[in-house]
Amino acid sequence: MSTIAAIATPNATGGIGIIRISGEDAINITEKCFKSISGKPVSGMKGYTAAYGTVFDSDSDIDHAVVIIYRAPKSYTGENVAEICCHGGLYIMQKVLRLVFSLGAVPAAPGEFTKRAFLNNKMDLAQAESVMNIISAQGESSLNAARNTLKGNLSKRIDTIASSLVTAAGALAAWADYPDEDIPAVENGELLKTIENALSELDALISRYDSGKAVTEGVNTVICGKPNVGKSTLMNLLTGYTRSIVTSTAGTTRDVIEETVRVGNIVLRLADTAGVRETEDEIESIGVDIAKEKVSNADLVLAVFDVSREKDEEDEEILKLCENKTAVAIINKTDLPAVFSEEEISEYIPTVINLSAKNEKDCSKLEEALNSVLGTEGLDFTQELLANERQRRCCINARDNLSEAKFALLSGLTVDAVNVNIDCAVQELFTLTGRKASEEIVNEVFTKFCVGK
Ligand code: GDP
Repeated sequence: MSTIAAIATPNATGGIGIIRISGEDAINITEKCFKSISGKPVSGMKGYTAAYGTVFDSDSDIDHAVVIIYRAPKSYTGENVAEICCHGGLYIMQKVLRLVFSLGAVPAAPGEFTKRAFLNNKMDLAQAESVMNIISAQGESSLNAARNTLKGNLSKRIDTIASSLVTAAGALAAWADYPDEDIPAVENGELLKTIENALSELDALISRYDSGKAVTEGVNTVICGKPNVGKSTLMNLLTGYTRSIVTSTAGTTRDVIEETVRVGNIVLRLADTAGVRETEDEIESIGVDIAKEKVSNADLVLAVFDVSREKDEEDEEILKLCENKTAVAIINKTDLPAVFSEEEISEYIPTVINLSAKNEKDCSKLEEALNSVLGTEGLDFTQELLANERQRRCCINARDNLSEAKFALLSGLTVDAVNVNIDCAVQELFTLTGRKASEEIVNEVFTKFCVGK
């Protein structure tokens, strides 16, 4: 296998930049471009040791650097790894990387270091995906969940479910295939219990993922309301600084501005939209169309109303858009005299909060409301959590197959019919952890990574 290299730190200027090299030749290549001040050659360095010295090419010295050596199999990838930590200038990092390429390394594809770790059995697929979640974690809870999966807790749980099914299916197959042998008949009741246990475990994982997504991945959220109710002001309260243009002329927020904010544990991917209003103005009506589309695609709607203005047709329109959506109604400007009637709001949006976006100091009222509509209250992130849609899909497919197995069993279909379904469910669980994932799936997982990881 080739020796790969990439800049492992961000593609930006920083204090230190790391060029990571992995593969059989990693140490030889590093030796050809680095001399330590002690004079000790890189090839003589033990694993887990570092040396300070100079990176050089055929013309001159390039930079002072620290080299860290890891020897196979005791490294992240399971191969020989060298990390050249030089100064974090973009030009210097690229120069060192090019030098490493000229000495025989090839560019690493996105996620290739982690893919090699997977191929060398350093981690399974679910653990590899949690590495990505650790990098993208936006808060303590999502970090905890990802760390838990990296430890292998999710994989252990999935393996336990799969092996209970394998044992049950194996016994069933043996009994069906060798009728003349003295193999004890499989009790339907036992088998049913195994299937039902697996089903309830999978259901719990899926539902925890669906609620936990608000924390681990963020919720697609749209703020909507007629012009001038305070959407931009609310957006600014959430983001903590002036981001949207706030004016008192109706209809000034024309574009959709996107931002990611954290309210307590919950991550909102926010789009602040134009007010929903019938308009003749061509430019603004483009914004209005986008707003309507955004609301229909959003997973969560924050519908804003102005307590100082009577409810009108535009408010009604917003309420209708929110019907059957996960939504929180925010009655804004509570510092002004109230003329807005709260009646009928709860008919469309059951969760209503009152606040003054302009004067509010924190978002605790909203946090409480969000926890209640998103079901994130009391979620335990120390428990195993699926990391992404791919894993969720595997669990859903496994669950569907098990439901069919259960149906086949209860309706007295052949043993084969039951077994085929159990087998498919097990395959799905193996795909989740990567024990039997196809090459396409493995490639698909790692292309989502960044280069250098
Ligand atoms: P948008 O058109 O819905 O985005 O509304 P803006 O955020 O631009 O706000 C419209 C006007 O209402 C601005 O003058 C804000 O300062 C004002 N405003 C927003 N929130 C409050 C509030 O809580 N109290 C009062 N009195 N004014 C507010």
